[in-house]
Amino acid sequence: MLTDRIGRITPSATLAMTAKAAELRATGVDVINLSVGEPDFPTPENIRAAGKKAIDDGHTRYTPGGGTMELKKAVVEKMRRDNDLHYETGEIIISCGGKHSLYNACQVLFQTGDEVIIFAPYWVSFPDFVAVTGAAPVFVNTDSSRQFEPVFEDLKTKINSRTKGIIINSPSNPTGGVWRDEAVLEVLEIARESDIWVFSDECYEQLTYDRPYVSTSMLAEKGEKVLTFQSCSKTYAMTGWRIGYTAGDKNVIKAMAKLQGQSTSCPNSIAQAAAIEALTGDQSEVKRMRDIFKKRRDYIVNRLNQMEGVSCDTPGGAFYVFPDFSSYMGEDRKIKSSNDLSMYLLEQKALVTVAGDAFGGEGHVRFSYAASDENLEKAMGFLKETLKELA
Ligand code: PLP
Repeated sequence: MLTDRIGRITPSATLAMTAKAAELRATGVDVINLSVGEPDFPTPENIRAAGKKAIDDGHTRYTPGGGTMELKKAVVEKMRRDNDLHYETGEIIISCGGKHSLYNACQVLFQTGDEVIIFAPYWVSFPDFVAVTGAAPVFVNTDSSRQFEPVFEDLKTKINSRTKGIIINSPSNPTGGVWRDEAVLEVLEIARESDIWVFSDECYEQLTYDRPYVSTSMLAEKGEKVLTFQSCSKTYAMTGWRIGYTAGDKNVIKAMAKLQGQSTSCPNSIAQAAAIEALTGDQSEVKRMRDIFKKRRDYIVNRLNQMEGVSCDTPGGAFYVFPDFSSYMGEDRKIKSSNDLSMYLLEQKALVTVAGDAFGGEGHVRFSYAASDENLEKAMGFLKETLKELA
């Protein structure tokens, strides 16, 4: 009855864990949820006020399919201010979240017979965005001791005449890894030689802790086939407002707008008005949230590395850690896989995490530190107890 297309999509593992946490909570269990992919802060006050004002001012109708001119101008201004990148409004599209932007770009550039490079561990949605177009995702290994940068020998063997795209996501979900400029430059060079589109998902741009962020497009040569994907979700704690955007080649942007116009009509008008305030208004909340995340990152990495048999390199960004627990796993042991460990933590300690296999990172478990200090402390205590039980 259903199409092949829908059969190529797998449900999001992270959303599945969030649903499990909710189920457990509904039975009265005191759950600690470290599976979340969103800031635990409210949307900043100035942005909420802009949303309320937008309703009162009557911004409650359809907007142009690719977003309002005012918001596109705000994006142009943001990219000039933060990234020293100079786009025109015709090179910008606003979508219903970064996810929607990525989905649309895959739809307009990839099709059956194409291959798209994805670095593993990867954000759960990348393979599905690609697969639904009919193209094949091709996975490339990364180095966990080097911020999960690509293993270039592996990348080179995976490129062929069918390769149409490479997806970069630095800072990364699920690893938190932030690549050095040299690694990005090497990917750009390989892409240039083979005339491949580079997608740079930069939605965690503002959450880098050890050095200033460098957008992939800043490293690219003029006119190169690079698309930048951005979002208000993580930077401004606006996950529910659903505003993301893409910057890049005019023709691709135009095609994405055509697709969007015939699918969602336009992004939410009120959220677009609020996003103008987010991008061009006071940025002090962004810094405040980043400082808190950095403290939490340092705490959780320190606790993890004190645990016997656990290794966790300090990730440079996002709000995830992706430690390796493979020394606790084996065919003849109680815990055989990262999924077993994640389930054990859920059932025995009511601690919700996401198993690494969902991200192509078997042996690892993802912990989000978008949670209170108290919950992080409790969670690390539960994990320590668990690993003692399993040793
Ligand atoms: N890209 C990555 C790597 C993400 O982790 C997420 C959200 O979890 C997104 C894109 C999409 O975010 P949104 O659609 O809320 O902008």
